[in-house]
This record gives sequence, C-alpha cells and structure tokens, in this order.
Amino acid sequence: MVAFNDIRDQFPILGQKIHRHPLVYFDSAATAQKPRCVIDAESNFYETINAGVHRGAHELASRSTVAFEEARTKVAKLVGAAYGEGQEEIVVTSGATAGLNLLATSFGNASQGRGGHEAAGFALKPGDEIVVSKAEHHSVLLPFQELALRTGATLKWFDLTDDGRIRSDMADEIITERTKVVAITHVSNVTGAITDVELIIRRAHEVGALFILDACQSVPHLDIDLHQMDVDFAVWSAHKMYGPTGVGFLYGKRDLLEALPPANFGGSMVELAWMDKPAQYMQPPERFEAGTQPVAQVVAAGAAADWMREIGMANIEAHERSITAELLKLNDIAGFRVLGPVDERNRIGTVSFDVQGVHPHDVGQFFDSKGIAVRVGHHCAQPVHRHFGLFASNRASTGVYNTAEEARQLVETADEVRLFFGV
Ligand code: PMP
Repeated sequence: MVAFNDIRDQFPILGQKIHRHPLVYFDSAATAQKPRCVIDAESNFYETINAGVHRGAHELASRSTVAFEEARTKVAKLVGAAYGEGQEEIVVTSGATAGLNLLATSFGNASQGRGGHEAAGFALKPGDEIVVSKAEHHSVLLPFQELALRTGATLKWFDLTDDGRIRSDMADEIITERTKVVAITHVSNVTGAITDVELIIRRAHEVGALFILDACQSVPHLDIDLHQMDVDFAVWSAHKMYGPTGVGFLYGKRDLLEALPPANFGGSMVELAWMDKPAQYMQPPERFEAGTQPVAQVVAAGAAADWMREIGMANIEAHERSITAELLKLNDIAGFRVLGPVDERNRIGTVSFDVQGVHPHDVGQFFDSKGIAVRVGHHCAQPVHRHFGLFASNRASTGVYNTAEEARQLVETADEVRLFFGV
C-alpha cells in the first residue's frame, strides 16, 4: 500500500494557505508541483556538480556529464524506452512544444533535400498527407499545419465523438496510402480522454507513415511503454511529470533518429565545421541538441522519473482514478457540463467543464477565493472547444498529491458557484 498522504507531505508548496484557505491545487495538467527530492536534485547539482557537459578535462565536467546521461536513462526507464549502449533514444528539448517543432522543422528540411538520401523517408511533397486530430493541443496542430504549408502536403484530421473522444475507428478511412505523418495526442489536455492509439498506430504503419505521440498528458499519469506501443516518435515535458520547467524529451526509434536531419544549429552538435562546406553532424542525441543544455533541470527530471517509478505508475493511476470519480460528479450539478467522457474509465483526472451562462473567468475566481486552483481559458486547444460549441472552459486536473476529500470540496464549491451566480 502506498501512503499517498505521506507523498503529499513531500511537496513543500502545498503547505500554504491561499486567501486564508489551505491550498487545493487542481491545475496539474498545466504544470505539476515538485516534490522535495526534485527540488533538492536541482539545487544539489548547482552546489556540488555544476559544469558544462561533454567538454573540458576537469572533474566537474565529467561528473556533470555522468549525471546528465544518467538522467536520460532514468527518464527512458519511465516510458519503456532505451538509453545507452548504442541505443540512445532520448533527446533533450526545452519542452514538448520544442520537440514537436524539432520534428516538423526537420521533416521540412528533409523535404528540401537536406540530410541526403538517408533523410528521404521524412520528406513530404504536394499530394502527401499529414494527419492530426481535432483534440490536438496547438503545439501539435500548428507545427504540422505549418509543415503542410511549407511542403504543399494536405492536413487531415480525426473528428471527435459527442463526448470528445478521437474517432480512432475511422483510422482506415482517414489514414491513406498518401499519409506520411500521423501526430496524435495520447491523452487530451481538455477532455482527459485516453486515445485508442493502437488502431491508429497499426494503420499508420500499414501505409508506411510515421506515428508521433504527444505524451504530455499520459507520461505523468499512466504506465506507458513506448517500445511496446511501437510509436516512432514521442514528446513530453518534464514540468508536468513533477520535474522542472524548461526541459522536455523527444523519444525516437534509434534508426529514425540516425536518419533524421538536424533542426537547430550551433555548438556541441558537429563533428567538423568548415567555412566553405556544410558541417558534419554528430550522431543522435547530440545532433539535435545545439547549444548549452539545461543540465541541472535534466538531472532533476531524472530524479522525478525515479521518484514516480518508486511510487509505481499503476499506484498513481489507481489513486488518481478514485479522485477522478469524485470530480466527475460535477456533471450532476444543474447547469454544469463536463466536456469529455463522464465515467472514470479510459480517461485521466483532467476534467474540463462549462457552467451555463457564467464566464469561466468568474468561475475560476470563485474557486480561487476558496483556495482552489483550477485553470480557465481554451487550454491551447481551440478546435476541441469549438467541437463543444464553446470558446473556453474551466479545468480541474489531478496530480498524485490530490485527495478524494479535495475533489469533494471542489464539487461542493461548484454547487456554491451555482447558487452564487444563480445558474
Ligand atoms: N500537448 C499537450 C497535450 C499539452 O497538455 C501541452 C501542455 N499544456 C503541450 C502539448 C505543450 O507542452 P509544453 O507547453 O510544456 O511545451
């Protein structure tokens, strides 16, 4: 039995009061709070190790390099990927957004003939298709929309069911012989729905397309195995998995990473550079990591990954599911509508909701006045809001530190919202 009350005590920020109420943090889909061990890993790095990686013949540089590389191994283990012994599959980015832009830019470069014959498999041309879904975060939608514009490829998308699930049953129809890239979210940051990606991945591979998984909202909450899922690329951010801001990871199958042309250029990514001819780039992951890396933050993200594995992803999943069941009672309140599946199966605890006739900002402020942090707005996913006939919503989202009691408190406060605004 994991004692989740003890786990909560590991988060220094949660001990405070907001507007004289104990802080109830239900905004983990935006960013998760950090346990003491993650904060310590970052400050300990600065106090005892700090140095640039991979260069310099001094002791600190070598300790820093070891810590940086070990952190990637820890992160790889969390998601069922490999790192080390020639199987380096984890690239450091500044976040999921950067990882997605890296891929889209790189595919665009390949489309312009960069990367030689090895990169030809990433090239797109007019008539080719890129497939996304209506549930995508703008961080997926916009880079691939831009790639379509850049290459003349056509952007297509999966529609959603009435309760906001991606219509993966349409895979055979939407993904065709012309499809080259499929980029889909594993879990929606609005509806919390878990996508049935298996069908989509199988179909993508059947037609020889690349499959990219946006794992931002699944890595913090679900036990995932990227090898087993057979995704080609995946991206996620450290700050949503109890790690620091400014860091993310890009997973790629090793042979794909080896063939992928670089997207960013600068120091620490070339074997040889000349004035009169293009540089010779390093092997992955360094080829994709131009410039000085956020080493302390990567090390702390490694600590977060270990900490999550220690608790056990299955335990985290079960704990959050019980809280989700409480949050979903929001749908029973008159005038409240949950945007997404209303039972706790095949979904996570990211629960967006609309309050009829009341602006999400007003609702958010009411919650805040009681010490409860929820998010308001379109959550960088306007098409999915349009699907529900809305522009914005309120969103309560769980983390390991939440309790069922807090969820009940949120639902009771929602009832007060109803009374206060006369819904
Ligand atoms: N995809 C999803 C599903 C997300 O929830 C987010 C963060 N809200 C992103 C992508 C982008 O992540 P980041 O802002 O950390 O780059």
